[in-house]
Amino acid sequence: MGHPLKGTAKKTTTPKDPVCGKRIKRQRAHIAINYKGATYYLCCPLCQAEFEQHPDKYALRDRG
Ligand SMILES: [Zn+2]
Repeated sequence: MGHPLKGTAKKTTTPKDPVCGKRIKRQRAHIAINYKGATYYLCCPLCQAEFEQHPDKYALRDRG
C-alpha cells in the first residue's frame, strides 16, 4: 500500500547516478554499467569504482 507506480511510463527520463545521486544525461555519463539487466549511469571513475565494489548496495535502491 502507498506504493507509487514508478518507472512504468515510457517517458525519456534523465538517468541518475546511483552512487552520488546526481542526474546525468546519457551521452554525458562517464560510463554505463549493465547490472542484473538494468543499466546504471555513472558520472565519473570514482562513482564507477564505488559501484563496482558494492553493486548490490546501489543497484537495489531505485528498483525497490
Ligand atoms: Zn557520480
